[in-house]
Amino acid sequence: MRQTADAVIVGGGVMGCSILYNLTRQGLTNALLVEQDVLGSGATGRSQTICRMHYSNAITASMAWQSLEVFANFPEIVGGHSGFVRTGYLVAVSPEDVGGLQKNIAMQQELGIDTRLVTSEEVRDFAPMIHTSPGEGLAWEPQSGYADSHQVTTSYAARARDSGAEISLRTTCTGVEVQSGRVQAVLTDQGRVETPVAVIAAGPWSRSLMSAIGVDVPLSTVRHQVASIIRPVDQLPGHPIVGDIAHSCSFRPEGSAMTLVGFGEDPAEVDSYNQGVDLDRAADVMRGMVERIPALADSYFRGGWSGLFTITPDWHPIMDQVPGIEGLYCAIGFSGHGFKLAPAIGQVMSEMVAHGQGRSFDLTPLRFTRFDEGDLLTSSYRYNVLA
Ligand SMILES: Cc1cc2nc3c(=O)[nH]c(=O)nc-3n(C[C@H](O)[C@H](O)[C@H](O)COP(=O)(O)OP(=O)(O)OC[C@H]3O[C@@H](n4cnc5c(N)ncnc54)[C@H](O)[C@@H]3O)c2cc1C
Repeated sequence: MRQTADAVIVGGGVMGCSILYNLTRQGLTNALLVEQDVLGSGATGRSQTICRMHYSNAITASMAWQSLEVFANFPEIVGGHSGFVRTGYLVAVSPEDVGGLQKNIAMQQELGIDTRLVTSEEVRDFAPMIHTSPGEGLAWEPQSGYADSHQVTTSYAARARDSGAEISLRTTCTGVEVQSGRVQAVLTDQGRVETPVAVIAAGPWSRSLMSAIGVDVPLSTVRHQVASIIRPVDQLPGHPIVGDIAHSCSFRPEGSAMTLVGFGEDPAEVDSYNQGVDLDRAADVMRGMVERIPALADSYFRGGWSGLFTITPDWHPIMDQVPGIEGLYCAIGFSGHGFKLAPAIGQVMSEMVAHGQGRSFDLTPLRFTRFDEGDLLTSSYRYNVLA
């Protein structure tokens, strides 16, 4: 492992790899990424990888929109493959949330995002398998879809290596050396790396790592479950992605016969959480899915897994230079949103490191100090994951 670097990134999830790749594009080719395990072994490898634009805040919606362009044109823009599959995304909310839905759609349309409110009749035309109930609010994003987290993460890593960056697997960051308010080195179990820049992108481990560096961040972790279901393909060959807020789940097709459904936000600890699926909860969620797509009544449960969302008090990330420590940056707290934002986040974090501030987005709403200042982002909904 190299002993000096222009920048050291801690964490080889989709975020760390996207930041590493984008740093090389900014000319910081002597960059190093350290990963305690293997690439994508954290939240990234457990992601449902849905890429949708529906958010309550312009900053998140526009980062998702810019990122979609990258996912959809990955071979030309980055190189390698993203596995992006365009399915369209339908969001369905209960009658009490229709006002929030309308507000979000108006904001997104102003940003140029391809999204619109739709009626039940229109849904019947483009997605006849979907059942809607009177009074529900419905919106449609025709460009949205899902991608492959492994391909995206490893493609970013490969392109960064091609440009001269190094990735050191099974290397744990144990601290950051700071002198006179400036980063001097990143400390790892494989040795000390002298560098003026450390970027923390350690997913669910970020709170303890930041604490080891002497920085307190308001992060916690919740368990999100993903169950896989085999569809009766003769009746239901496919379906769009559905953000089914009325039934507290979101689901997407996977390959030719599988549907993946995500649900749950239960507090959990990073080193001891249950990585499997709760069968009773999965059965409840499947009942809701059958109300939404009646043909799923003939599907069967195949298995599943759980992963951790790393959340802040407003369910939005912290992307900033840590106040008072020059050269220490963090890209943390992505809850259930991080995968779809990763291309834009890599770009803007690399701008922050190379030029002192983000250029492609104004990151003020995601600043480190907003919690102390009481200036949190707000959601149009009661459901955190739609934030
Ligand atoms: C079940 C589930 C479903 C999801 N579904 C979606 C979805 O549909 N759409 C979407 O956009 N997002 C989704 N997300 C969220 C998204 O997957 C995450 O926000 C994103 O993957 C976070 O990436 P990351 O690189 O920040 O973190 P991680 O992938 O967790 O990567 C952090 C890495 O840091 C490493 N690390 C930690 N500490 C150290 C250390 N001290 N030294 C060295 N390495 C260290 C870890 O080993 C890990 O590999 C989902 C998440 C989960 C859990």
